[in-house]
Amino acid sequence: MDPKGWRVELNDGHFIPVLGFGTYATKEVPKSQTVENTKLGIDTGFRHIDCAYLYGNEMEVGLAIQSKIEDGTVKREDLFCTSKLWVTCLRPEFVQPALEKTLKNLQLDYVDLYLIHFPTATKPGKELLPEDEHEKVVFDIVDLCTTWEAMEKCKEAGLTKSIGVSNFNRRQLEKILNKPGLKYKPVCNQVECHPYLNQSKLLDFCKSKNIALVAFGALGTQRAKPWVDQSSPVVLHDPVLCAMAKKYQLSPALIALRYQLQRGVVVLAKCDNEKQMKENMQVFEFQLTSEDMKVLDGLNRNLRYLPLQIFADHSEYPFSDEY
Ligand code: NAP
Repeated sequence: MDPKGWRVELNDGHFIPVLGFGTYATKEVPKSQTVENTKLGIDTGFRHIDCAYLYGNEMEVGLAIQSKIEDGTVKREDLFCTSKLWVTCLRPEFVQPALEKTLKNLQLDYVDLYLIHFPTATKPGKELLPEDEHEKVVFDIVDLCTTWEAMEKCKEAGLTKSIGVSNFNRRQLEKILNKPGLKYKPVCNQVECHPYLNQSKLLDFCKSKNIALVAFGALGTQRAKPWVDQSSPVVLHDPVLCAMAKKYQLSPALIALRYQLQRGVVVLAKCDNEKQMKENMQVFEFQLTSEDMKVLDGLNRNLRYLPLQIFADHSEYPFSDEY
């Protein structure tokens, strides 16, 4: 299997592997497991690694990457590493220092992709993690266009090859796209996307602007997260999805991943063990019929597992608009 064949071109000429490895882990997971999991992910063939400052484990991901470069499994240029700017650093003067901190943690000279993680600025200070819902969030007002200009400077400084956004709605994407003096369009919008929230309208919009849609939570997200409503239906248990998986003699997870690839979406997967990693790599080995793709489209129910309600009263909260 040649990982190079699984890449698509971004609107700035760089290439992104269409299957990515999620690195978010809940607080309960020992950090050392992130090192081992990420090493195993690279050994299994994952070349796109999705990180974020917010996840609090970039040092461990960095250790894994360095170890796999040192033992000759990969070269730096074989890997596509993403990180994200958290909401406490959306003021333009904080953007480059935040990326430099991430690079130090990851032990890298550059990331391949740097994203604005979420559009709702908050005042810096104590680290703000979504699970700390009891903490008072102090909103800040920052023009996203000024954050974007600072992102453009990071690209020009060579600290990141590409720049993009995450959790932006159409209006926020248009704001950046229509910014006077725009130098670089966002290459992607990374959003929650799975058969219960298939984002078809946002996907059509992104395609029309040559912006890649990157799906997180494609397997229904890690339900152990404290802010996931435990009474929400589990997408991987959906009876139609499970029946289809049975027909193909594959797992529901693989069908859910393949669904994204066939609709032109770059897809992330969080795998907790070697068995899942190996299984998820099989996504390149089969095809869903167009009838089955339509059946999967029909499962949409606009169910967002991660509404991030703590930001709901912010003027830039992205999920009040239809898409
Ligand atoms: P996910 O990819 O939806 O995966 C959820 C769970 O599916 C896994 O934890 C695993 O859990 C299960 N799974 C994986 N492979 C499987 C298989 N082959 N068969 C059965 N079950 C399988 O989870 P996610 O972490 O929410 O999202 C993926 C990545 O997206 C994150 O790690 C992070 O990098 C990124 N992300 C970004 C944002 C953002 O705001 N930009 C937000 C969330 C996530 P069990 O085995 O324990 O059931």
